[in-house]
Amino acid sequence: MSDIRPHLINGRWVHGGEAVENRNPSDLSDLIGLYAAGTADDVAQAASAASAAQPAWFAAGPQARADLLDRVAAGIEARATEIATMLAREEGKILPEARAELRRSAQIFRFFAGEALRVTGEALASVRPGVDIEVTREPVGVVGLITPWNFPAAIPAWKVAPALAFGNAVVLKPAELVPGTAHLLAQVIQDAGCPAGVFNLVMGSGRVVGQAIVEAPEIAALSFTGSVPTGRAIAATAIQRMKKLQLEMGGRNPMLVMDDADLDQAVEACLNGAFYSTGQRCTASSRLIVQAGIHDAFVDRLLRAMLALRVGPALDPASQVGPVVSGAQLEGNLGYVALARAEGCEVIGGERLDGPAEGFYQRPALFLGAHNGMRCAREEIFGPCAAVIRVDDFDQAVTVANDSDFGLSAGICTTSLRQAREFRRRARAGMIMTNLPTAGVDYHVPFGGTKGSSYGPREQGRHAVEFYTTVKTSYCLAG
Ligand code: ADP
Repeated sequence: MSDIRPHLINGRWVHGGEAVENRNPSDLSDLIGLYAAGTADDVAQAASAASAAQPAWFAAGPQARADLLDRVAAGIEARATEIATMLAREEGKILPEARAELRRSAQIFRFFAGEALRVTGEALASVRPGVDIEVTREPVGVVGLITPWNFPAAIPAWKVAPALAFGNAVVLKPAELVPGTAHLLAQVIQDAGCPAGVFNLVMGSGRVVGQAIVEAPEIAALSFTGSVPTGRAIAATAIQRMKKLQLEMGGRNPMLVMDDADLDQAVEACLNGAFYSTGQRCTASSRLIVQAGIHDAFVDRLLRAMLALRVGPALDPASQVGPVVSGAQLEGNLGYVALARAEGCEVIGGERLDGPAEGFYQRPALFLGAHNGMRCAREEIFGPCAAVIRVDDFDQAVTVANDSDFGLSAGICTTSLRQAREFRRRARAGMIMTNLPTAGVDYHVPFGGTKGSSYGPREQGRHAVEFYTTVKTSYCLAG
């Protein structure tokens, strides 16, 4: 029992009855640990503790909140190697990527430490003489945060930091596959002196813990990142309870490679965008829309670079691409590889690989000769697989790019200022990249998409205030 890593509820480490195994996808014989699997009752306790603690946390004022977030940033930096190693071990991201994610997480906390001090309002004269109006922002109250496995540190950070900065209390549920990173993050937040109940961690399944968070009456707002079906299910339940919602879901992000692109730059952007982090990024460049004149040279160069990528254990310094996160995800990816063949693509790569230990290794794959009507080109795969779609001209490229149920990120490789500008205007996506991979974003600017990719206010940067606060309009007749 004491071997089970506990939840953090109301400032105390709470042991649950049930536990889930956390195993290393690079080496299935490596049992990272047992982590508590929460119940609806654990969520009820966390939500009620959060609700009790939140008013005093807001009343403590922006300096106290900024100071805590600063200490959390310092705590992450102090334990960065330990947490990055955990992240690489449980998620399969190679260590340099895991380190970068930890650096980013600390930066996010530091950014929102500053934002706590920069909440502004408005003062206006009323249309009625003698009356003044103030428009101010207040916390929404208790926020439920449900996070996915692909960024086990950064996504919790970019939800927890603004929630706390603006005076909310939090119940966080990390994905079942990656409780270890969230657990270490919770230790850092606790050790930084977070008041009891302001931050709560309840680990466990989506069906039990996630569902209980969505239903908890004390939780006023939900921020979720994950798959489209789960996002839709959460929205359906949450809307019945009139909860504020922020959903970040999938992507099938187009990357245009135009005839006039710098070939080196285009190959590098597509290699990175499609395959780094094992393609397990909602912003991955997974539809490569390539103009006919550059198509063969581009495909030839990208294939050579792709096949040279060293796939291996996350903690091996020689690895460039880590394993797929889980057996189920690998099965899904292999299913799409088979589907691409069945739909008529020429598939290069994509097969399961043996590693030095038993793990979920897969060679990155290109689906050549794809067209945008194929399922293997439309549906989100979330693995190291990209479809290559040949087009004749810029207009066709933009039409294909926009013909998607998703609209998260969209990129173009071109040396033409006119095409770059035109694409920026016409692309139906929340984030546009020129001569850069569709993945890889800054932390101080908004993140989010259109269509099926996102719902609700944007995350990150100054725009985060929209979701994590509510607006109050006060009228006052003086004298
Ligand atoms: P992924 O395929 O990336 O795991 P999911 O949407 O299944 O995406 O999971 C994202 C997060 O949502 C995880 O923390 C998961 O446990 C949680 N989750 C899954 N199902 C539900 C649900 N019915 N209600 C609330 N949360 C859920």
